Amino acid sequence: MVKKISLLGATGSIGVQTLDVIRAHPTSFTLVAMSVGKNIDKALEYILEFKPLLVSVQEQHDAERLQREVPSEVKVLYGRKGLIEVASIDADVLVNAVLGSVGLEPTLAAIESGKQIALANKETLVTAGHIVMKKAKEKGVSILPVDSEHSAIFQCLNGESEKDISKLIITASGGSFRDRTRDQLNGVTVEEALNHPNWSMGAKITIDSATMMNKGLEVIEAHWLFDIPYDQIEVLLHKESIIHSMVEFTDTSVLAQLGLPDMRVPIQYALTYPTRLELPRAKRLNLLDIGTLNFGKADFERYRCLRFAYESGRQGGSMTTVLNAANEEAVSQFLNGKIEFLQIEVLIEEALQRHSFIKEPALEIIHEVDKETRQFVRSLIQI
Ligand code: NDP
Ligand code: MG
Repeated sequence: MVKKISLLGATGSIGVQTLDVIRAHPTSFTLVAMSVGKNIDKALEYILEFKPLLVSVQEQHDAERLQREVPSEVKVLYGRKGLIEVASIDADVLVNAVLGSVGLEPTLAAIESGKQIALANKETLVTAGHIVMKKAKEKGVSILPVDSEHSAIFQCLNGESEKDISKLIITASGGSFRDRTRDQLNGVTVEEALNHPNWSMGAKITIDSATMMNKGLEVIEAHWLFDIPYDQIEVLLHKESIIHSMVEFTDTSVLAQLGLPDMRVPIQYALTYPTRLELPRAKRLNLLDIGTLNFGKADFERYRCLRFAYESGRQGGSMTTVLNAANEEAVSQFLNGKIEFLQIEVLIEEALQRHSFIKEPALEIIHEVDKETRQFVRSLIQI
């Protein structure tokens, strides 16, 4: 059976690699719908190659232009409504690889329509994990991880029982500044921060790796995906990014998933689960070449964002919405050259401290908190 795939964020780092996987297996996958942001030239190229029925772009004027340039059977939509339509279309799987909390509503729409979700967009679970997981359970929808660490854990848990898990061990490369002390972070440039040692990814997640917020978001993501308390989730520095994560069981056994860093592996696994397919042009792991694997402690003072993530995760409710929104806004301002690298964590801390905790926020409250937090962070920067 050919699986029908709908893809959010087709022009991004994960989106492009998802298209690579689809392209490699034409008898297994077909693209029926996709969304892009502002990269209309790429969108046009992909429409001509993959012939989806439905495409959504971020802005109305881009949608109007694109509609004139594509074959008439392709429907072009835009904005929030467009993302929801792409998520709701008749497909077997939604790959959610859009960036940021804008991915929440389409995830909920995809669950509503009963389709399986391959989730890269971790912000969805950080901002509203309680709503997403509850709804997925009610609808009997599975959420399969695309994030490499969560895919590793998911693979290690295959055939295991939840009660036998003693802890999850999430590995972290340490990002662009892993060999610097805190003091050496003063005055680092955007260009230096974007230079990740192991992975080539979108700009926002590369900065999140440098601040270690990415690992913090992943701890929260793991909490929701695997229903594991924060006390049983550990972060371990591992600079080679060969062990993608591990699970320790009650009998002290530890299972790990290994491989060279290549996001197409977890993307493809989310699409083929519970089976596997060849991955064309992928390099195989040779441990003799690697020689040594290193591990280190993830220090909460050196990596304050990791501490914020654990603290807000443990508090739960609206705190993780604030964490995510403040981080999205601060990172975007850093990338725009408006603030220093170390200000990212200062702004997040201020947003968390000022917020009045709401226990089980409904969707409207999540949207409100997200918006207010971004405004608050912007007001601190005075732009
Ligand atoms: P990119 O920045 O490379 O791509 C983001 C995609 O989302 C692009 O297609 C972009 O469109 C689109 N987009 C951005 N903002 C909007 C918006 N407001 N409305 C509609 N579309 C929008 O990101 P990545 O691929 O790196 O990351 C995507 C998600 O996957 C993130 O949640 C990230 O944390 C997660 N992830 C990424 C990994 C990676 O290796 N890159 C690894 C694990 C998780 P356009 O470019 O056309 O403007
Ligand atoms: Mg990851």
